[in-house]
Amino acid sequence: MIDVHKLRKDFPILEKKIHGKPLVYLDNAATTQKPKMVLDEIIEFYSSINSNIHRGVHYLSEQASIAYENARKTVKGFLNAKSDYEIVFTSGTTQAINLVANSFGSKFIEEGDEIIVSEMEHHSNIVPWQILCERTQAELKVAPFDDDGKLMMDELKGLITEKTKLIAIVYVSNALGVVNPIKEIIEMAHTQDIPVLIDGAQAVQHFPVDVQELDCDFFAFSGHKMYAETGIGVLYGKEKWLEDMPPHHSGGGMVDSVTFEKTTYADLPFKFEAGTGNYVAAVSLAKAIEYISKLSMMEITIYENDLLKYATEKLDAIDGLMIYGLAPKRCGLISFNLDNIHPYDVGMILDKLGIAIRTGTHCAEPVMEHFGINATIRASFAFYNTKEEIDKLIDGMHKARVMLCK
Ligand code: PMP
Repeated sequence: MIDVHKLRKDFPILEKKIHGKPLVYLDNAATTQKPKMVLDEIIEFYSSINSNIHRGVHYLSEQASIAYENARKTVKGFLNAKSDYEIVFTSGTTQAINLVANSFGSKFIEEGDEIIVSEMEHHSNIVPWQILCERTQAELKVAPFDDDGKLMMDELKGLITEKTKLIAIVYVSNALGVVNPIKEIIEMAHTQDIPVLIDGAQAVQHFPVDVQELDCDFFAFSGHKMYAETGIGVLYGKEKWLEDMPPHHSGGGMVDSVTFEKTTYADLPFKFEAGTGNYVAAVSLAKAIEYISKLSMMEITIYENDLLKYATEKLDAIDGLMIYGLAPKRCGLISFNLDNIHPYDVGMILDKLGIAIRTGTHCAEPVMEHFGINATIRASFAFYNTKEEIDKLIDGMHKARVMLCK
């Protein structure tokens, strides 16, 4: 069981006071806080073995390279990938999706082809495909969701044609917290040999993910949203796709040999890791995985689902509060508005109470457009949050209501 009061001590920042009030950090979907174990690992790496990876035969370089490759093995285990060379380190989800859009796109997408995304995507899983479609004269199709935020599966099915070359879809919406039926989508796509990319940026930190069981072709996530350092992310890709895809960035580290006549490329995954990557952050990601694995992913899921249920009930009871995306399967976050008050004004009042929530479009403008709104207030949870913190949010909402509702 999660012992929240004990494990909160692992996160130094949670001791902080903001405007004289204890910090209530409910902006975890934007980025999570880091446990001391991860922070210590970063200092330890720089203090004891720092050296560029895969570059030298000297001791430090070897040690740093071993740590980096061990981190890859840890990620492989975390996702249950078949092999570690299916794990490509990137700077984050955004770069991972751009890698596929550019590399897969340049090899497999032609004029007249079709790519399907959903209406609830983060801009990171829209714009790279738009740019690719502009470049290749392909078409971007959009699967809608209903007013509960539930993806309309029949509509999605209806969009698939023999020209569909890829479905790119978010596992958990960062604007609504809705969990999409990814396995069903993948099964449906695979009956017609269509590969599927999953944006897992809001998934991996909340419940176990097994890429072999899902049978997804690509899976992207960011380390900073799951207790690791910023500047590291992962693209999982099935070997058969990664082998066939050309490099998207080029330079040092991704080559086998270079002459002015001909350059040959390194094997997977190095073909996709040009230049000096953020190897220290990769090691921090492995530490974060170690940390959450010790807590148990299943326990995290149970604890966080209980928090979300509690928050949903409490918020729903506030007069004039509108929750967006009440589909049955949700996780990690809740998006809402209060009467006609601008979310920023609520955000400012909550901030004065030490409560950090997110206001805005959450980089998902089409979701805002669906509901005919400019922005929402978003509270997003981690396993270190408590029901007492949610009570403070509720109190804060009541205060905001009194102050802002005329
Ligand atoms: N997809 C989703 C669903 C996200 O929530 C985010 C981050 N808000 C991203 C993609 C982009 O992640 P990053 O900025 O770490 O690349």
